[in-house]
Amino acid sequence: MAAAPALIDAHGRTIQYLRISVTDRCDLRCRYCMSETMTFLPRAELLSLDELALVADRFVARGVRKIRLTGGEPLVRADTLDLVRRIARHLGSGLDEVTLTTNGTRLAEHAQALRDAGVRRVNVSIDSRDPDVFRHVTRHGDVIRVLVGIEAARAAGLAVKLNMVALKGLNEAEIAPMLAWAAASGMDLTLIETMPLGQVDEDRADRFLALTGVLTDLKERFDLIPDTHRTGGPARYWRVAGTATRLGLITPLTANFCDGCNRVRLATDGKLYMCLGHDEGVDLKAALRGQGLAGLDDAIDDALLRKPARHDFRIAAGAAPATRRHMSVTGG
Ligand code: SAM
Ligand code: SF4
Repeated sequence: MAAAPALIDAHGRTIQYLRISVTDRCDLRCRYCMSETMTFLPRAELLSLDELALVADRFVARGVRKIRLTGGEPLVRADTLDLVRRIARHLGSGLDEVTLTTNGTRLAEHAQALRDAGVRRVNVSIDSRDPDVFRHVTRHGDVIRVLVGIEAARAAGLAVKLNMVALKGLNEAEIAPMLAWAAASGMDLTLIETMPLGQVDEDRADRFLALTGVLTDLKERFDLIPDTHRTGGPARYWRVAGTATRLGLITPLTANFCDGCNRVRLATDGKLYMCLGHDEGVDLKAALRGQGLAGLDDAIDDALLRKPARHDFRIAAGAAPATRRHMSVTGG
């Protein structure tokens, strides 16, 4: 195999961050993410544990420094912890971090094992702490399990960042209390604008809440200090004065930060997507199964050339989603 060239796209951006959707399946059905009758890929179409580990190895060899496992719900896949362990072998020799985004429902069972495997931080999605609102948003979820999972993660020594999708008329009144709770508990909070990815049962425009207005409101209640922290992602950050808590805002609709994008996403179907907001992907699974590691490298190079300059999300009543894929397939 030839030396491993760095991952630099056609716009001069260096890719150092890989997200992997290990499964599109989930034990919840958040209304903005999936339809109630979502159909999932047959298991045979997913990359195997060995294939996922091989792809991860190759990305690390080519300069990726951070890998996030996501989904769907990563903790519903039985071998996710094995994958974490395989990836974690690279920690300190190329890889800075392996981490996870989870809905938290199975965190209580797995928190200690994640920590033992080398995970230091997790993102936990919680759109509401009110049991009824949570059940409504997720269609049947029990927020208590998530809260217990968050406690277990913290007890195991994992730093927790909360993810909250801002939903007009559903959880907007809970945003300030969520930030107060995060600040009092030593957690970070990232607020996310609903993105038009895949068809769901409702019109996302009805629930879209622009974070520009939310930020104005939060600034009246909290002393928020702009923070220069950048991750190469779409978030901008503030510190809650007097606390260690960082507030992040992911505003793909109201402010675009694609210029510094440093990430690519390996989807559940084995395709590498260069942008959350575009349908074009390169089939790493076919390359790997057909031509082995050399084919994998060629496919990654091909993908890099195709990374678009930016996404072009639009939320408007009746508008079609930007992609056919749901976030759960691409990996949020
Ligand atoms: N199941 C895990 C969870 O919920 O954290 C991981 C996968 S989920 C797709 C990752 C993140 O994407 C979650 O914070 C979720 O709220 C967010 N998300 C899902 N669909 C979205 C959409 N259409 N727009 C914005 N955020 C979305
Ligand atoms: Fe599942 Fe996460 Fe999508 Fe909710 S946001 S349905 S928890 S994948």
